Amino acid sequence: MFVILNRTESGLRNELNECLQIISTSLQTVKDNKSFNKVLAVQLRILLCDTKFGRENSLINKVRTNPMLKCINNNFTSYMNAGLIEFIQPEFLFEESNSSLFLEAWLNQDVIKSNVSYQSLDNCYCPYCGSGDNSRTSNSRNIQEVQNRECFIMIMCQNCGAKFPVNLDNIIDAYEGKIENVESVNITIRDIIKNYANKNGGAHIDSELDIKGLLIAELGGEYIQSISQYIVEYFSETEAG
Ligand SMILES: [Zn+2]
Repeated sequence: MFVILNRTESGLRNELNECLQIISTSLQTVKDNKSFNKVLAVQLRILLCDTKFGRENSLINKVRTNPMLKCINNNFTSYMNAGLIEFIQPEFLFEESNSSLFLEAWLNQDVIKSNVSYQSLDNCYCPYCGSGDNSRTSNSRNIQEVQNRECFIMIMCQNCGAKFPVNLDNIIDAYEGKIENVESVNITIRDIIKNYANKNGGAHIDSELDIKGLLIAELGGEYIQSISQYIVEYFSETEAG
């Protein structure tokens, strides 16, 4: 005989409560310790966008019928005023919004639109040979300083072959205002949660980052917190049942 064990409704509600407790506690802790973004990201994945064998497996769908979540606002700002990256400021993500969306559409909302490409990386200033457009920032930099910054990716200088770390601000600094034939990358709420949870130290750490991975590694943490904050509010408002 085949026996299938299912969780009871109260068992599922327990899981939900524990998940929300972890989120609330981590939201307090993350203010002083950014590494708790990883804890938040994993809980958000479990709650909002988990899959199992390619099929939807989110906790929210087990405890709510057709949940509807508040739309994010649609005010994109240019990162460092360069036009290379447009993003919704994470602290205002859920402001000024009165409408809601079903989970799937809610997860598919764009929060970052980027035109960063491998061409943008080519112009980054090389601290070893000085190549790259450095008119704005080169004078105060030395190799030690470059090595000590918090950076997620290394690039190789096309001129001298040296490898050095760069961050998003360096890429924007090197950007010359041209966006040519670049396949723009849109990053959704789902991308941020899943990428952060799966690749950024939630459940895995990848050694190689693509552009999307770089953007989420640099910018994702604030979104993770903002989404977590909203989710706590959402469940406290709908937690009658
Ligand atoms: Zn070089």
